[in-house]
Amino acid sequence: RRTEALSGSRGPGRTADGRAVQLLVNLGSPADLAAAAEADCEGVGLFRTEFLFLDRATAPAVEEQTEVYAQVFASFTGRRVVVRTLDAGADKPLAFVDHGQEPNPALGVRGIRLARSAAGAALLEDQLAAIGAAAAATDADVWVMAPMVATPGEARAFAARCRDHGLDTAGAMIEVPAAALRASRILDECDFASLGTNDLGQYTLAADRMNGALAELLDPWQPALLDLVGLAAEAGRESGKPVGVCGEAAGDPLLACVLVGLGATSLSMAPSAIAAVRAELATRTYEECAALAATAIGADDAREARRRVAA
Ligand code: PEP
Ligand code: MG
Repeated sequence: RRTEALSGSRGPGRTADGRAVQLLVNLGSPADLAAAAEADCEGVGLFRTEFLFLDRATAPAVEEQTEVYAQVFASFTGRRVVVRTLDAGADKPLAFVDHGQEPNPALGVRGIRLARSAAGAALLEDQLAAIGAAAAATDADVWVMAPMVATPGEARAFAARCRDHGLDTAGAMIEVPAAALRASRILDECDFASLGTNDLGQYTLAADRMNGALAELLDPWQPALLDLVGLAAEAGRESGKPVGVCGEAAGDPLLACVLVGLGATSLSMAPSAIAAVRAELATRTYEECAALAATAIGADDAREARRRVAA
């Protein structure tokens, strides 16, 4: 086992020179829980909670939510679980919320913006109460983060609400370019950040992530996206606060090395991607990862970035 850990085939993620990079899994529903819990990972980096709210006529009660969170935490005793609060909007509508008519839901009232209305704020309160109750009764290390944070004020208000429910590790997803550009101010207001490269790519390249015709612009190797990842990670380094990646980019072994070279402190991905990312990371020193990052950022487009780094 020790040899396996040293060779990078098991255990915590690290570069060849021993820099720790937590390898975490993304979890989208209880159906995925068994595979996630059995993965050789350090915890959950993104627990998407939409499944609790979508496709039902009324909002889930605090008690029902508490039970579900408790079940997930029980599978990760002694490990980290980063719960993302509800990311709904006119693109993922809730039957019990009036989303109004939005011609452009991706730019509308989604994620933490839902808490601007009284009904949305009440949903968030209930969710945090449930997470707080389940967290108080577990040995899992529970972190909470908000989707679609755009300003430091939103991060501040979210962290305050979390603390009201005994949740002391509150963070912001960085998936809006404004938040990446001003990551140091966002980190002044909360405890960690997690880069959602799926949405950050969509908003940086102004390319709808559901539009297959724009796949090349949505490629996570886009140097402009990597620039923003680097900015946010640098803010993390300066503040001493963790800045990880939980978008799909983290599950591409070569790109994972680039993200680490840019300064990401953790990578969260599908359970099936963990082994390959761990193995690739173990073959490179941090300095080599940083050199790969510089190579990727020196390219003009995603294809060239990937080709140069692969070479
Ligand atoms: C992201 O945007 O990268 C992300 C992780 O969130 P989601 O894919 O759920 O929008
Ligand atoms: Mg997102």
